[in-house]
Amino acid sequence: MDSAWLVPAALAFGVLLGAGIVAVIYLAARRGQRAVDVVNSAVPDGVDQVIDALESAGVVLDPSNNVVKASPGALSLGLVWNQGLVHPELVTIVDRVRRTGKAVNDELHLSRGPFGEATIFLSVRVARLGARYILLLAEDRTESYRLEEVRRDFVANISHELKTPIGAVGLLAEALTTAADKPEQVRRFAKRLTKESERLARITQEIIELSRLQATDALSKADLVEVDTVVAQAIDQNRVMADSHNVQLVSGGDAGAEVYGDEGLLAVALHNLISNAIQYSPKGSRVGVGVSHKEGVVEIAVTDQGVGIPEEEQDRVFERFFRTDPARSRNTGGSGLGLSIVKHVVQNHGGDVRVWSQPGHGSTFTIRLPEASHVAAATVAEQ
Ligand code: ADP
Repeated sequence: MDSAWLVPAALAFGVLLGAGIVAVIYLAARRGQRAVDVVNSAVPDGVDQVIDALESAGVVLDPSNNVVKASPGALSLGLVWNQGLVHPELVTIVDRVRRTGKAVNDELHLSRGPFGEATIFLSVRVARLGARYILLLAEDRTESYRLEEVRRDFVANISHELKTPIGAVGLLAEALTTAADKPEQVRRFAKRLTKESERLARITQEIIELSRLQATDALSKADLVEVDTVVAQAIDQNRVMADSHNVQLVSGGDAGAEVYGDEGLLAVALHNLISNAIQYSPKGSRVGVGVSHKEGVVEIAVTDQGVGIPEEEQDRVFERFFRTDPARSRNTGGSGLGLSIVKHVVQNHGGDVRVWSQPGHGSTFTIRLPEASHVAAATVAEQ
């Protein structure tokens, strides 16, 4: 039998079948497109433009909870994924509004995006939009919530920090009254009373300093400051404590460095680093203060051979009231504010402070500041 016609016939059949499949896919696609067109045309006039112009998050949902329109803000907050809402909490609110017809305002903690580990804090308003649609508006309040949390923590910490010495003062005053005819006890209680009142004064002073630093910009009235003077001042102020702890205080490095800023504040910052170095060091050890300046950067490093700081806590020591060992820190009379003051002073001077530490071996805190000669050169070059 002649089978030569079979090949072209099979080819023709294949082409026809392929064309048929393509036609079916095309028609299905067109139907889908028309369906979206229909849905979109029912969204009340102007909503598209409003959502486009919205800086915050705005989402329009159809009766099946498909997202038919979302503002860029909603996408960047990670509220929408695969044409739906990411968060079941939001879907629940949308369903409630659809059922009751009443608008809902709510505040929610949600993850950022479908896989996000970061939390966002949203203030949302959900309402009906025409007969079919639901409009969801969301404001990102994460930053203000975080600030509020920091403020709350700060107030709670301050109250806690003040309560201890205030309680002690009350008790010691009572003890003094009952021991009035025993001079030895009176002297002992009075000495402790003085210590507690000094501690209260120091905490109050540091809180005032810290809030002043946070509220002002030290460089707005910057003077030319000699780093050698700052180092000499800070060392002088710590000399008595170093002697009483039997710690040797040495300084060295490059002389003649200058920075722009506030001499008093810089001395306070360096003083805090040196006094920590002394307090967290064993007797007979050495604390060094070294200055170097090159390529426009002045570095002041305070090195000790003390207890050190565990790696996981090195970032946290600059937080207000953070202590690696609260009991030890309280014994030394520490307020937990010293390093956050250092951080703020240095940041206000356009610099930074870093820590290197090895538990059991010691720590080095390094302040880095822009050198005055380079700041001046840059200003001149800009003019
Ligand atoms: P404090 O008044 O408690 O010393 P700081 O803010 O100055 O508060 O320091 C925070 C914590 O960092 C301290 O409680 C201590 O645990 C740790 N720390 C600071 N400096 C040193 C240091 N040189 N060596 C070891 N630990 C330190």
